[in-house]
Amino acid sequence: MKPELSGIGMTSQRTRGRMIERLREDGIRDERVLAAMAAVPRHIFVEEALASRAYEDTALPIGLKQTISQPFVVARMIELLAAGRELGKTLEIGAGCGYQAAVLAQLAKDVYAVERIAQLLDKARANLRHLRLPNVRLKHADGSLGLADAAPFDTIIVAAAAMRVPEALPGQLAVGGRLILPLGGADQTLCLIERNSRGFTETRLDAVRFVPLVAGVE
Ligand code: SAH
Repeated sequence: MKPELSGIGMTSQRTRGRMIERLREDGIRDERVLAAMAAVPRHIFVEEALASRAYEDTALPIGLKQTISQPFVVARMIELLAAGRELGKTLEIGAGCGYQAAVLAQLAKDVYAVERIAQLLDKARANLRHLRLPNVRLKHADGSLGLADAAPFDTIIVAAAAMRVPEALPGQLAVGGRLILPLGGADQTLCLIERNSRGFTETRLDAVRFVPLVAGVE
């Protein structure tokens, strides 16, 4: 049975609607981002025991010491990344269970989602299979190196915090492209980097809390 049609699916329609109302109240303005958030059933990305909490505005464990990102943070980062424009060709670093990749797939032409933990990538692949998103490609790789083979990207979004901007990433942006990532250790802030014809501009935004960006694969 398709997840949307199951019992939890019925409940999920209502709680998902409330999640969207809350995102709006909390300041998400881009209707395309709200529609993308509404289109993705978050409960299929978490363990069954947590499914009833899937539409709360909170990060939840997905195993291997990692979490599914908080809906507000997913929406906020994508809204900042889009800045009212198209996402185009997008690189996501830190795919985890695949939730954000599914949201990005509603808005981007192509999504390349990279994850360093093979077991999580398998979960993401299984989760995304239900949703049939032909524009998402998953890769097992260390995203701190970007994805040179598929570069340049119009947009890059990083779901794990680094102490500084990984050297490889800004150069993999197309001119006019944008990169958003959390920077810091205990205290993290979102950082938006834009590439223009003369170089790069950097803007510091909200305080956030992400798991660390880790080098290498496992
Ligand atoms: N995008 C996910 C959030 C996953 S949490 C969501 O939609 O909920 C962040 C993920 O980044 C973890 O799965 C972690 O394993 C991964 N990660 C950390 N460092 C990484 C790296 N260097 N390359 C790729 N993935 C990385």
